[in-house]
Amino acid sequence: MNIKQILFRNRCGAELSHAELAYMLELTDPAERDALFREARRIRQQNFGPEVFLYGFVYFSTYCRNGCRFCGFRSQNRQSIRYRRSREEILEAAVRLKDSGVNLLDLTMGEDPYYLNDGERGYERLLELIRAVREETGLPLMVSPGIVPERLLPYLREAGADWYALYQETHTPALYDRLRLDQPYQERWERKLSARRYGLLVEEGLLTGVGDTTADQIHSLRQMELLGARQVRTMTFVPQKGTPLENVQAGSCSRELNLIAVMRLLFPNRLIPASLDVEGLQGLKSRLDAGANVVTSLIPPDAGLAGVAQSEKDIGDGARTVQGIQPVLARCGLRAASSKQYAQWLDVAHRQDCRNERKRVSV
Ligand code: SF4
Repeated sequence: MNIKQILFRNRCGAELSHAELAYMLELTDPAERDALFREARRIRQQNFGPEVFLYGFVYFSTYCRNGCRFCGFRSQNRQSIRYRRSREEILEAAVRLKDSGVNLLDLTMGEDPYYLNDGERGYERLLELIRAVREETGLPLMVSPGIVPERLLPYLREAGADWYALYQETHTPALYDRLRLDQPYQERWERKLSARRYGLLVEEGLLTGVGDTTADQIHSLRQMELLGARQVRTMTFVPQKGTPLENVQAGSCSRELNLIAVMRLLFPNRLIPASLDVEGLQGLKSRLDAGANVVTSLIPPDAGLAGVAQSEKDIGDGARTVQGIQPVLARCGLRAASSKQYAQWLDVAHRQDCRNERKRVSV
């Protein structure tokens, strides 16, 4: 087996085997990796042209009721940056991001009890916030509030959310149980299926370098397909101060790059992010070169907002901004998509998902 044969089979429409996927994920030979990344870029070009979508990130509350072992914002971590931004602060950041040219705003929080453990009042606070950001900016929204009750999902959509992002991080239940303490695997999974039924596009995520094997990753890729996730992301684990995994050796990001490229082969027309939240600006080119077509975690400087895995990296000096990434896009032969282009993509995705759901119900 070699990379040329695998890529040829993929081009012919053959279903790639477990062994072929493992071969690509484990690639270390520079020439073979180059061939894989080249093919991923060709597929991206075929499906999206030279345009990439840009997502602004508003991490509006870092309070969380959970204790995920990999996360710096787990409730037990006294060393975490902890804040809950006011409505005004959130709107100001949202408008700044809009004015800078992002295509979408990602409203993210930890599972903050202020919103999620205060019954209807808390849910209404969340919905009101989503409505206000939508109204003020007119931009498409992704919401990442963690697990919410199923009955809240249609209201998220109604308030203006297009996307519901909820990462499993791994689809191997035993590893999941070690990472996401006391959060039932099945509940998390089913919430995403429900979100799709209520007209929300779903983003699924995979964390790598956190005890996952190649077989775990292949299983995750298959599950992402099953879920019908419209956006699939992978990020390398970054050890966080004050957490049980603080002293785990940080791995290289080469597996993340292989995963991005394999995702592009398997999911040619899905959105695949290049996150600034792992290696900051210096890691952007390699992720785009591996076939990503969305830049995520753009954060306005001086807004007092954190990233997730890299809570401060490259934020203060404005490198994680639309302007800051322009030279990298140019070096990759890419350019920022317009809001109109993103809205068109979104419209088609919503309509396709809606048709797929109808088919699912009628089967
Ligand atoms: S990963 Fe999310 S749910 Fe888990 S502790 Fe961090 S913020 Fe909370």
